[in-house]
Amino acid sequence: MGSNGARPAPGFLRETAQLIGAVGRAMAITLRNLFRRPVTVRYPDVQRAYPNRFRGILALTYDPETGEENCIGCRLCEYICPPQVIKVEMLKAEKRNYAKTFTLELYSCEFCELCVQVCPTDAIIMLKSFDLATADRRDLLLDKDRLHALGLQFEPSWATGNRLRDMQAPPKPARAEAKVEAKGETKEPAE
Ligand code: SF4
Ligand code: SF4
Repeated sequence: MGSNGARPAPGFLRETAQLIGAVGRAMAITLRNLFRRPVTVRYPDVQRAYPNRFRGILALTYDPETGEENCIGCRLCEYICPPQVIKVEMLKAEKRNYAKTFTLELYSCEFCELCVQVCPTDAIIMLKSFDLATADRRDLLLDKDRLHALGLQFEPSWATGNRLRDMQAPPKPARAEAKVEAKGETKEPAE
């Protein structure tokens, strides 16, 4: 009863009950989450393990056997890059060519991976890291030395140009079909 003796309106009681119910449900959710394992990590002290196909920042590679730079300065990556952020100068040499200069403006990169897909020597790759945050855009203008250093610093992604091109090649015909084709026989289409 109210102070003037009048009964509280039924609408008021219903709304109060709804409010108490909502607060109770919210508190139950809060309590449940209090004991859950957190999904966040204390980056950068704790590093998350990324999947093998994670495609992060770009880098240049060395041949692990000879220690030579893999880049032959062919400029295919420069031609394919949609925002034109790669610039390569070729250095012609006796046995093979090299990149005299190689620059990549990472701040304008779309991470489309086209440069990786066309590279004939797996010289440009993507890394399993995005750990290049900075407040100075100039830090993201990567030259040849920096790109090679990044390639040594972080783990490479599974996706190299040669692997990606292999995936896009049409599947080989099954053995029986290949034999028929070799004999010059043609199969009747199934009814
Ligand atoms: S990932 Fe795409 S945008 Fe970035 S450098 Fe390669 S081709 Fe250019
Ligand atoms: S990174 Fe690959 S595609 Fe680009 S210039 Fe070097 S060899 Fe050619």
